[in-house]
Amino acid sequence: MAAILIDIDGVLSVSNEPIPGATGAVRRLREAGHRLRFLTNNTTCPRARLTELLRSKGFDVDEEALQTAPRAAARTLAGRRVLALTMSAIVEDLKGIELVGESADAVLLGGADETEETGRVFSHMNLARAFAELEAGAELFCLHRNPWWQTKHGPLLDSGAYVAGLEYAAGVHATVLGKPSSSFFAAALEALDSDPGQALMVGDDLASDIRGAQLHGMRTVLVRTGKFRPDVYERSGIRPTVLLSSIADLPEWLATAR
Ligand SMILES: [Mg+2]
Repeated sequence: MAAILIDIDGVLSVSNEPIPGATGAVRRLREAGHRLRFLTNNTTCPRARLTELLRSKGFDVDEEALQTAPRAAARTLAGRRVLALTMSAIVEDLKGIELVGESADAVLLGGADETEETGRVFSHMNLARAFAELEAGAELFCLHRNPWWQTKHGPLLDSGAYVAGLEYAAGVHATVLGKPSSSFFAAALEALDSDPGQALMVGDDLASDIRGAQLHGMRTVLVRTGKFRPDVYERSGIRPTVLLSSIADLPEWLATAR
């Protein structure tokens, strides 16, 4: 029996459409007695809604089993004055943070999504405001720093590009609150009462999922779905414990691998 941490976007679904065989795989993993936790850097959808979406697509998940980057931010930044450049939808998951427009202790960057709200949140005016706060001494945090993600229309620019831009302009380094930060993996293992050595991370992202989990001492499963690209994989030099076609193959691999 293993503790299994499963990335959502690109592993269970792409643009909210389930990957073939994924719902059955989650069910079989539970039936085999594995303990599951779902880890996502999704920064555009509140946790309750994300749970509803997954359930509506046939995934057997409850809200408590979902670990999201905004909830990690709420824990880390509780009680602080924060200028948050995030989608309005996730504000309900930032409870406990004092959201302000100026004189901030911290600047928090969320992720982009496929709607036009992204253009407003990451407008030049807002990024310039964030830069001014950083110049005045605020600390920079981000929910993730992904440069792009996979949509059904192809790769789309993500907010990691804006994080890097603010770091460059203000001469600071951002603290990542979601994957691949070690604290995010540690919180997931604690929730499952597992050590890294007994745990498995399943993901489609070489840097955030695979490398991040390896640095935290975990075994890893890379899937050839979502943002997986054979050429990028070959060049990366990053090697998971196993490379599978999709999560649909995971129950069988676990049953036979020793
Ligand atoms: Mg992913």
